[in-house]
Amino acid sequence: AQEVGGGDKEVVREYFNNSGFQRWKKIYGETDDVNRVQLDIRIGHAKTVDNVIKMLIEEGSLEGVTVCDAGCGTGSLSIPLAKSGAVVTASDISSAMVAEAERQAKEELQKGSTDGGSIVPVMPKFEVKDLESLNGKYHTVVCLDVLIHYPQNKADGMIAHLASLAEKRLILSFAPKTLYYDLLKRVGELFPGPSKATRAYLHSEADVEKALQKVGWRIGKRGLITTQFYFAKLVEAVPA
Ligand code: SAM
Repeated sequence: AQEVGGGDKEVVREYFNNSGFQRWKKIYGETDDVNRVQLDIRIGHAKTVDNVIKMLIEEGSLEGVTVCDAGCGTGSLSIPLAKSGAVVTASDISSAMVAEAERQAKEELQKGSTDGGSIVPVMPKFEVKDLESLNGKYHTVVCLDVLIHYPQNKADGMIAHLASLAEKRLILSFAPKTLYYDLLKRVGELFPGPSKATRAYLHSEADVEKALQKVGWRIGKRGLITTQFYFAKLVEAVPA
């Protein structure tokens, strides 16, 4: 197997600029042209996004809070964060994803505030960047459903890098090793086609926790989101 940082990253970039982009745009979208499995994943992923927003808002208003959304995809999280007043920097390795996120953000945010409240959304800053190249400091760093592209030996460095960008909290979601394994194999759906297949890596919570501890962070809150075909562990880490 190739690894992220070498050829694997190129494979991931290529996938999310082409067939992966088409597939995930559909899954993360609202149209009816999804199959049963894709619809289930859509619902599971939406729950993850809701959970993250809840975790963040529990600690206080997001107005003016700087958030880095690393591996932003089509903006499923960045857009609601911006609506809550957060100052979002959204990036992804895939230029197709970033362009789509930006398009959706313009469409959604120019409608203005949905709750009729006083929050003025700030248009996120969108960048095509792999997360290893991200720099700067953010109050909060969030990275949802991206770790699946990292084998554990690369995941440690990736987690350490994200933690170095965060001042107060880091939220990560990942496919847990135990529950997810069989399903992923059964579903194949997630990364279809033998030639275009990107490998899917599962992570144990203990490994993620160790990686965080190594750089002086500890897990505060934890969550688990499950539907029939979607499983995600959610952790919120804070400086220890
Ligand atoms: N975080 C988004 C969400 O939850 O809606 C998207 C999740 S999608 C399953 C995974 C995303 O990670 C894709 O958009 C992909 O392009 C991006 N990605 C994969 N490897 C990356 C890397 N090394 N740096 C930045 N983005 C990456």
